[in-house]
Amino acid sequence: MDAFEKAEKLIELQEKTECQRCGHCCTQTENIVLTPYDLKMIAWQHHQTIDRARAHFTRIIDRDHAIRGIKKTLPCMFYDPLLPGCSIYEIRPAVCRTFPFKSQPADDTPIVYYNECPASNKALESI
Ligand code: SF4
Ligand code: SF4
Repeated sequence: MDAFEKAEKLIELQEKTECQRCGHCCTQTENIVLTPYDLKMIAWQHHQTIDRARAHFTRIIDRDHAIRGIKKTLPCMFYDPLLPGCSIYEIRPAVCRTFPFKSQPADDTPIVYYNECPASNKALESI
């Protein structure tokens, strides 16, 4: 499966996921990895420069590979329990858009799923 096919599969799986809004993914998982585009959108929404948003909202997860994620807080700093849900839903990071499924797009690692998500098994059964 090439990177394009894999991205299509992740989208297909995610579209079939009927989120139950249990909040587990936003309150219990720690590493929310950001792409440069994710950071750009977070900066834009908060009317900040990218440098300021990087300092304010992110931390280094893997210095060797320059990987950054949302600052480690549980629940995620963007989770709003009153919604309940994501306060930046429209611009949420790519990793949140494909949750509970994930994979590395550029290699042949398989798609894996987060089995703590109550909706993931149902989505897998539907394909
Ligand atoms: S863990 Fe699954 S069901 Fe629960 S909020 Fe996240 S995506 Fe939705
Ligand atoms: S950015 Fe939004 S969707 Fe992603 S973990 Fe935080 S609250 Fe949840």
